[in-house]
Amino acid sequence: MRILSGGHDFEGRSYVADVPFFILNMFYFRSISIDAKSQTAWVGAAATLGETYYAITQFNSSLAFPAGYCPTIAFGGHAIRGGTGASFGVILAYKIKLVEVPKKFTAFSLTRTLQQNATKLVHQWQSVAPKLPADLLISLQLTTVKSSRTGKSTVAATFVSAFQGGVDELLYIMQENFPELGLVKGDCTELSWVEYIAFHFGLPKESTYDMLLGKIAALPKDYFKAKSDLVQRPIPEEGLKKIWNLMKKMESPPGRMEWIPFGARMDEIPESEIPFPHRAGNLFLGQLQCHYTPP
Ligand SMILES: Cc1cc2nc3c(=O)[nH]c(=O)nc-3n(C[C@H](O)[C@H](O)[C@H](O)COP(=O)(O)OP(=O)(O)OC[C@H]3O[C@@H](n4cnc5c(N)ncnc54)[C@H](O)[C@@H]3O)c2cc1C
Repeated sequence: MRILSGGHDFEGRSYVADVPFFILNMFYFRSISIDAKSQTAWVGAAATLGETYYAITQFNSSLAFPAGYCPTIAFGGHAIRGGTGASFGVILAYKIKLVEVPKKFTAFSLTRTLQQNATKLVHQWQSVAPKLPADLLISLQLTTVKSSRTGKSTVAATFVSAFQGGVDELLYIMQENFPELGLVKGDCTELSWVEYIAFHFGLPKESTYDMLLGKIAALPKDYFKAKSDLVQRPIPEEGLKKIWNLMKKMESPPGRMEWIPFGARMDEIPESEIPFPHRAGNLFLGQLQCHYTPP
């Protein structure tokens, strides 16, 4: 038996097997009910993250649930933390604890090419990002692009950030911790937490609800395989240059990586506490993506 909630398992464990099998599809288990008093919600196994974020923000825009970016992932596989592969039983619903968030977030997305000092900035980011105050997240997207100057392949580093607060406070923190990035007020935009999810994908905030509810026009189809590495020591500049050389060879579809820092709350949970290794002692998670066009 294979249990399928959102079908986002990168190895296909919810829908492939080496022996004859059947699929237990949780599709109809997707109700979401929120309790204002306890600030908790019951979420059906096949409810998507997007549907859940939408329901929470419609209920009370000062509440949130911190989980993944991709709106079409389902809770069934996502919240399960290590107990995958149908080894523990079938989960019908999760009770989740909501958190309070400010109404105002500030976001930025700043791209630097190799000619704009990206190697040094990425090297520095590895030590800076995991130590930032808990209200500030700066993740990193690395993409193979064509240089407009030489026409050759190069690598662009995009620093994508969400801050739980206003722009002036963000500028102060950046000046203290990462002045080399050169963030200025004009780079920043104010959003709600749920609008940040669209922002993270480079979508306008007007398409936030369509994106959360899985409407395809808002979220273009993208085919990729991804693997993650947990990085515990900063990769030296020489190592980064070797990575860039490999990425430059991946022109079309382009090579892509997403690096997500740890620190903050993640650093408070020892690796041995729960069956999920992505905990204290790591600097960041480096997701390596291979994009392709299906035949
Ligand atoms: C495009 C994409 C983007 C992603 N983005 C993020 C992200 O931003 N953050 C992040 O943390 N992760 C991300 N992931 C990883 C994702 O969170 C995991 O793959 C998650 O396990 C998917 O859950 P699912 O229910 O959609 O998948 P499924 O393939 O349905 O399930 C995954 C596993 O859990 C088991 N399972 C599912 N439902 C149940 C159930 N009800 N009871 C018992 N076992 C069950 C399945 O059998 C399978 O082994 C992403 C994955 C993809 C493909």
